[in-house]
This record gives sequence, structure tokens and C-alpha cells, in this order.
Amino acid sequence: MVELCSLFSGSSGNSTFVKAGNTNILVDCGESGSHIEEALRQIGVEPESLNCIFITHEHIDHIKGAGILSRRYNLPIYATVGTWQRMITKIGKINADNVRYIKGGVPFGAFDAVVTPFSTPHDSTESVGFTIEHNSKRASIATDIGVMNKTVYENIKASDIVLLESNHDVDMLLHGPYSPELKRRVRSSVGHLSNDDCALTCSHLLDTGTKHIILGHLSLDNNTPSVAYATTEEHLVMKGAHIGSDVTLEVASRYAPSTKYTVR
Ligand SMILES: [Zn+2]
Ligand SMILES: [Zn+2]
Repeated sequence: MVELCSLFSGSSGNSTFVKAGNTNILVDCGESGSHIEEALRQIGVEPESLNCIFITHEHIDHIKGAGILSRRYNLPIYATVGTWQRMITKIGKINADNVRYIKGGVPFGAFDAVVTPFSTPHDSTESVGFTIEHNSKRASIATDIGVMNKTVYENIKASDIVLLESNHDVDMLLHGPYSPELKRRVRSSVGHLSNDDCALTCSHLLDTGTKHIILGHLSLDNNTPSVAYATTEEHLVMKGAHIGSDVTLEVASRYAPSTKYTVR
């Protein structure tokens, strides 16, 4: 059984709750510890029941509360060497037993979850996404990706639940308030995934049996939830999918928990 619920999503802060069997996982802790605790309680999860934290990369919108929660609940943090090197100065002292190293492409076990971290194209040191599996049910998280490449796609395909980045509408970005340099960064192959690229990926995911799609990490300035939703919806409908029955589609909120999806 796997369960996934986005607690916060967007350039302001990211954290996702995943349950795999009896293992309670937080993927990223990019909000304050108390906000994450509050969001967990809202979805019926006691913070005391958490088992571990996984971190995708060292940007502040992914790590803000990681140190606090690790110390408060004695939680191991799993991250790549590159992420640890950049993150360690920002999250405070972590108990040596709770420092766990992982590597893109190398699966590991965490309690009763089988986890595959995979490398992501992003302007950070050694970023990853995660596929988390229990009893052949799988949930994947892929945000902060400049392009949808083969590595990312091969890892997330056939997952029952996918949280995928739908960062910006290209026209809104080009005509929006960002500086030319920042626009280039967002659009680059190590920036963020556009609504169009996300939509195209989702239409392929549909063929691999994905049942629940959550669009996440929306830009505040260069996207809106309705534009992101409509872009992917259009691609899914074009493929003949009935949204709600063949596949569910939701935009993760920046500030509040999404639906909690469970696949048994
Ligand atoms: Zn981010
Ligand atoms: Zn990032």
C-alpha cells in the first residue's frame, strides 16, 4: 500500500507526506517545522508517527524545517552527498546516526519502503526525485526538473501516484516580471518544468497505468492553478481519458494539504 499527500507545494515551500506500508515518510521539509506538524495533523497523521525524511536537494524551499523535525522526532534524513554538503550549514546540527547517504540510481530500503532515488536535471549539487514502493504499489515525486529526460521518465512511469512539477506557463513567464536572466534560468534544462512539458509527460504516464496525477511546484508569478490544470487536462482528454474515472488530476495547493491518495 502506498499513500501520498502534498502538504505544501510551490516555490515558497515543499513537503509531501508518503506512507509505504507502515512507514511514514516526509519528502522535503521546505516549510517551518510547526507548519508541517500542523499540516500533518490536518490529514490525520501524528508527527510522532514519522519514520524518516528524504530530501531532494538543498534549495531552501525544500529543507527549511528538516533540521528542526529531525531533532524533535529523532528522524533519519536521507540525501545525496552533494545535498548534504550544501545543506548541512543551513539546517543546524544533526545527530550523526540520522545522517544517511543515498545516491541517484541506487535503490535503498527505509523501514518497509523500497526507495529509488533518481537524478534530476536541476541547478543544484546532486538533486534527486524519488520513487517509493511497497508491495508493488508505487508513488513518485519529480519536481525541480529543467527537462523531462529519459532518467526521470523511466523512473516515474507506471507509478500509481505521481506528483509532477508544472512550474510555469511559457507565455506568462516570457511576458512576466522576471529579469531576462531569471527567465533564462527557469527555462533552461536545469531550471523548472513548464506546463506544456508536464502535460505531455502526463499523457504518456496515462498509457503506463498511472491512476493519480498531482501537479505541483507552481510558480507564483508565472502560472495559476487553473492554467496548469487546463494544460494537462487538455492533453489527457485529447488521449480520450475521462478525468475522475480513468485518472484523477489535481493541482497541489501552495499552502494546504491536497487530497490524500491511497493505492492498495
Ligand atoms: Zn523548489
Ligand atoms: Zn530547486
